[in-house]
Amino acid sequence: MENCIFCKIVAGEIPSAKLYEDGEIVIFKDIAPLARIHLLCVPKEHFAYLSELDDDRAALLGRTLKKIADLAPSLGLAEGYRLVVNQGENAGQSVKHLHIHILGGETLPWEK
Ligand code: AMP
Repeated sequence: MENCIFCKIVAGEIPSAKLYEDGEIVIFKDIAPLARIHLLCVPKEHFAYLSELDDDRAALLGRTLKKIADLAPSLGLAEGYRLVVNQGENAGQSVKHLHIHILGGETLPWEK
């Protein structure tokens, strides 16, 4: 997708601190971390919103959650982590390519 910053990261056209990559997803460090560990998990396929999930994308998301759970200890997240998906305007979604924030590395406050 032209002009999508996460598509450019997926394609290697702009640099990122990638920690994991396979055929379906990449995981890289958020450029403006909100926790000691703040990673972004991005499906390589471009789509913007959870509301665009079809059966194939829903299955991809399921596999992605399992992958995050399997990788968590190697990412320094053995003590726990929080997953966040910002969807749409009210949530302040700034990048219109679906992504899962992975937050951890410390005790996380629970805020709105
Ligand atoms: P959201 O507000 O849920 O759309 O989150 C977008 C996230 O992408 C923010 O936490 C940004 O800090 C992060 N971000 C934007 N550009 C980059 C980049 N080039 N590399 C890594 N993270 C980025």
